[in-house]
Amino acid sequence: MVEFLREIVAIPTINPPGENYVPCAERIGEQLREFGYEVEYVAAEGLAEHTREHPRVNVIGRLGGAPRPLLHFNGHIDVVPVGEGWTVDPFGALVRDGRIYGRGTTDQKSGIAASIYAVEAIRREGITLHGTVEQSGTVDEESGGFAGAAYLADHGYVHRDRTDFVIITEPLNVDRVCIGHRGVYWFEVTLEGRIAHGSMPFLGVNAIDKMSQFIQKLDRELRPALASRTTAMPVEPSGARHPSININGIRGGQPQGIQTPCVADRCSAIFDRRFLLEEPFAEVKREIEAALEGFDYRLKDLMVVEPVQTDASSRLVTTMQSAVGSVLSAEAPLIASPGTYDQKHVMRRGLVEQCIAYGPGILHLSHQPDEYCRIDHLIDGAKAMALATMRLLGAKA
Ligand SMILES: [Zn+2]
Repeated sequence: MVEFLREIVAIPTINPPGENYVPCAERIGEQLREFGYEVEYVAAEGLAEHTREHPRVNVIGRLGGAPRPLLHFNGHIDVVPVGEGWTVDPFGALVRDGRIYGRGTTDQKSGIAASIYAVEAIRREGITLHGTVEQSGTVDEESGGFAGAAYLADHGYVHRDRTDFVIITEPLNVDRVCIGHRGVYWFEVTLEGRIAHGSMPFLGVNAIDKMSQFIQKLDRELRPALASRTTAMPVEPSGARHPSININGIRGGQPQGIQTPCVADRCSAIFDRRFLLEEPFAEVKREIEAALEGFDYRLKDLMVVEPVQTDASSRLVTTMQSAVGSVLSAEAPLIASPGTYDQKHVMRRGLVEQCIAYGPGILHLSHQPDEYCRIDHLIDGAKAMALATMRLLGAKA
């Protein structure tokens, strides 16, 4: 398992732009085939991001028993860019002091290795599973997952018509089970002003001043309202149990350049509003429109991700919890993620009701320099996945 993980970490599947997806998908497919799976490659035909230079190719393996129940393990093969501050080779897959270092070790190639070897351990014990196991390695999670998990859901590969349970092997720490995530609304506000000579600004309308007024209005009115709302979801860290709004970027002035003797006639800003399961999106958007009243504005939606949560009393959640408990001898807390990951696609597009995230990586190391996964976590994670697989599908020795 460690050697396989090192091999896939050494393939730099950096996204953006989406490099080396094919060799990584093929290495996973080759391993699955060796372990008895039927393997299929699914290219994201018809999507603009699937190009000759950067093909978007997903891999799925199927290990059959009866068609139902069907448990699907999914992990994303893309990793974020390396960034600064590394003291080891980001694609060297160095093993030192019980850890494997490299970009993508924690987020989340360790999850892919763990689920593949969890099921292989069952097979090598000569235990027969009643249902079917699938494993997929998908692309582009870090950029929205449209050519990856969303594509598989849209094309019926991960869909309630065939799929009962989905475990996404994202890093939420080996001792916790994640049942969902919050929502995201990214939008751009553009405010118009009126150009005039910079020496006589009273003859124009400064759009940057207007944006400043809008931001102050958000501070006065929206931010206190958001701080007063709390979700019932077990979001970790707990500071993220309130909704939030963050200004991601701002640009103002004349398009030709900002050093001009003119009153700024345009200002745009991009906002990142994180919303709760308890906040309907239509309300979230209406609040922004209400705050913009009185301004000469354009509002453009850049991305909307609906929050999702699997029922805490569902079979998948309780089984994974008890499997983690059996391995670690401690009750596994349920958490929800402050950010978002491919669970939205499985549930909203694939209509699969039972989906969780569970994996051996350490959440706070995701996207960091000197990212690593602990080998004992990799092993414990795989054990918990193996137990959960047998309990969900039914097993006989
Ligand atoms: Zn991830």
